[in-house]
Amino acid sequence: MASNTGDIVRESLDALMNDESFLPELKSEERKRAFSSLHSILSTPNHIKKTFLRVARENGQVERIPAFRIQHNNILGPYKGGIRFHETVSEKETGNFAALMTLKNALHEVPFGGGKGGVIINPREYTDKELNLVCKKYVQNFNETLGPDKDIPAPDMGTGEREMDWMMGEFKNINPGYAYRGSFTGKSVINGGSLGRKEATGKGVYFTFRYMFYDFASEREEWLKGLDNRFAQNAIKQIDKQQTIAVQGFGNVGSVAAKEAQQCQYLNNKVVAVSDHNVMLYNSDGLDITSLIDYTRRHNGDLPADDEELMEAGVSASIHHRDDLLTVDADVLILAALEGQIHEKNMKDVKANVIVEGANAPVTSEADSFLSDNGVIIIPDILANAGGVIVSYLEWLQGRETQFLTEQEVYDRMFDKMKATFDTIYPQFYGDPFPLRQNCYIQAVMKISTITFKQGKLY
Ligand code: GLU
Repeated sequence: MASNTGDIVRESLDALMNDESFLPELKSEERKRAFSSLHSILSTPNHIKKTFLRVARENGQVERIPAFRIQHNNILGPYKGGIRFHETVSEKETGNFAALMTLKNALHEVPFGGGKGGVIINPREYTDKELNLVCKKYVQNFNETLGPDKDIPAPDMGTGEREMDWMMGEFKNINPGYAYRGSFTGKSVINGGSLGRKEATGKGVYFTFRYMFYDFASEREEWLKGLDNRFAQNAIKQIDKQQTIAVQGFGNVGSVAAKEAQQCQYLNNKVVAVSDHNVMLYNSDGLDITSLIDYTRRHNGDLPADDEELMEAGVSASIHHRDDLLTVDADVLILAALEGQIHEKNMKDVKANVIVEGANAPVTSEADSFLSDNGVIIIPDILANAGGVIVSYLEWLQGRETQFLTEQEVYDRMFDKMKATFDTIYPQFYGDPFPLRQNCYIQAVMKISTITFKQGKLY
């Protein structure tokens, strides 16, 4: 498994079981039973739906494409989470991501549960017409389980506004008269989507980093200095320094985070490396992110990959193997590509002091323990990349009220929500021997467990 969701949930429950101020109503044997029930509730999904989508290619060939929708937990509200179109999709990983969504929503007080979908497909190999059919078939197959009050999908890797618009269109065809607007989020703005949704995850990822090392840290510098905690000492070292940043993945999340870093007026940041599925580009003086974004817009999302293409982009950089990014000489690594990128084999070569998880589960459990033991601050996925689902929630609300927020209002509400979470988590983290991920899990598991108990589900 690319991440250690199950283990951390177990450790979080163990920590909570020993904390007598948590659910004091539960005593001895009853307490043990309740925690064991919570463990099975959180470590298994409520529903695993899988099917084959029967899709006729334009050449007449009929394919049966495996597809999933996994609904992990809905104690906090309807299931919520993206649909991924990628060759690496598997049932196991989709289940893991669904659990992460439950925890992410609980952590940020978004009133949704957790779910995730996936289709084992390389969308680059399909025509638009074929992809449209894949989307329609996905909705037809999972229609019974979807809906604005049941399970609300959103974009993930390989899907975006276009796919959500198609899916919502099909949902509306199948369910006439239904309040369909809230059935999918991440739609185009003209089709009921929210302003700011596309950039939300990337903006939130950089904001997490900025908040931790500027807003939060500069206000509490003296307090941090007084703490005997390896993470706090690491944070102090970062505060006044010019930080060099490397970003893995230059899609919707990575490119926005890189741009935010380049434009940040508070921190002295320099984006020295970016990578995509082909290459890594490096410049120790800093890369021209705006020109790179313009280039990728004209070239199907790809970064320039040779000298001629760099010239066309008007960018000065050296070209390297894409995986060199993970071990490049930079203070901060923003991981915004696939899961499982930093693992046992490359963890010892990582030079960064701070890792921000823009993707879901990009650091394996072995690498996570090793790096945390060495004082590296890993800002975990459920804390850092929640901007997307927070704005999905705002989109869902706007769809219900048919009242729309301005882009600024969307970002203000998103940042306020994220700030409220950080203000709970950061002081605890610096005062604690646990890594940040563990603190986030404890907070999320505490919320889910309390509500499960209050709803009478532990008797
Ligand atoms: N796929 C995104 C995530 O992993 C967004 C989910 C959503 O908006 O529902 O957080």
